[in-house]
Amino acid sequence: MTAEKMTVTRATFDKVILPVYAPAQFVPVKGKGSRVWDQQGKEYIDFSGGIAVTALGHCHPALVETLKTQGETLWHTSNVFTNEPALRLASKLIAATFAKRVFFANSGAEANEAAFKLARYYAAHRHSPYKSKIIAFHNGFHGRTLFTVSVGGQPKYSDGFGPKPADIVHVPFNDLAAVKAVIDDHTCAIVVEPIQGEGGVMPATPEFIQGLRELCDQYKALLVFDEVQTGMGRSGKLFAYEHYGVAPDILTTAKALGGGFPVSAMLTTDEIASVMAPGAHGTTYGGNPLACAIAETALDIINTEEVLDGVEARRQQFVTALQAIDAKFDIFSEIRGKGLLIGAVLKPQHAGKARDLLNAAAAQGVMILNAGTDVIRFAPSLVIESTDIEEGMARFARAVESVV
Ligand SMILES: *Cc1c(COP(=O)(O)O)cnc(C)c1O
Repeated sequence: MTAEKMTVTRATFDKVILPVYAPAQFVPVKGKGSRVWDQQGKEYIDFSGGIAVTALGHCHPALVETLKTQGETLWHTSNVFTNEPALRLASKLIAATFAKRVFFANSGAEANEAAFKLARYYAAHRHSPYKSKIIAFHNGFHGRTLFTVSVGGQPKYSDGFGPKPADIVHVPFNDLAAVKAVIDDHTCAIVVEPIQGEGGVMPATPEFIQGLRELCDQYKALLVFDEVQTGMGRSGKLFAYEHYGVAPDILTTAKALGGGFPVSAMLTTDEIASVMAPGAHGTTYGGNPLACAIAETALDIINTEEVLDGVEARRQQFVTALQAIDAKFDIFSEIRGKGLLIGAVLKPQHAGKARDLLNAAAAQGVMILNAGTDVIRFAPSLVIESTDIEEGMARFARAVESVV
């Protein structure tokens, strides 16, 4: 039985979807590797990776195989029952990281919600119910639930939704003195992205991250790394914290964890996990066998020398191409980021043009991202072919030419 397919277009969006997005004018219908096709059959090279999600490209054969196999086996049990894929995925994440315990959820925001609740709960149980202050950073981004958006450092995203969760303090990123000025014995956690993603592809300095670790130890606060965007190989290591020689107490990851299938995880230590008991936190879908089976396959592929070592070479190809574009059009003040999370910062005379560049890029057949109004962001597949980078950059150069 096949239902008659309704015809929908980009115009349908403006009638039926809550107007919280302003999507591109084309509608993707198919993807393969780093190429995507729209309703008209026009082909695009994907440098956006679904916002750092499709780390193995679109419809990677191994992920499709797992989706089919697990899809014919068991999709969902709820957490009233455990399941083999979740137990395997948790074991592999533990083997690959500082962590000893895992909580699964469905999105970055949910993993962070769990992390922030755990940090408060741990402090209340081990120390004092008054130890609830969370220190976070200007321009940080942690998701859109009321708690996570309030920990995020852009008030415009949390204003207008009623009273916000209390006892959250924001200070400038990469400014250790500012953290020292606000941290005290009532601080339960410092929450930081090792590389701010949405906030402009801004890496933390090693001194900053190491200083945060020391301050957390001194004040018995937990260091929470939001690696929702930087995790799963994006930086060239499985998790970005490995670049800093500093382990967090809690780490969250999501975006690329399922390679495009919704799943997230919060990782922590035995000691911190030990304050939790059945009923303290939970989720219906989190850790379902279908999501965990796909994430297990994604992790098996990403956590290999072949994939992780390939990230830096691909970054070099991107950076070289961006430098050539800059030499011709004098448009970027800086190329920054780590691995395949790349930010090209627009010069002051081109400030505010990020969105125009996205549209121009789409017209030329390449999908890119912005991070704010002044930074062009690239978050492609970690296994993108060199020829796709070359062709996509040629298209991007034409887009730049049409805008400057
Ligand atoms: C995308 C993102 C989130 C939110 O993830 P969702 O899956 O959209 O809830 C949280 N933190 C960071 C650093 C992100 O990049």
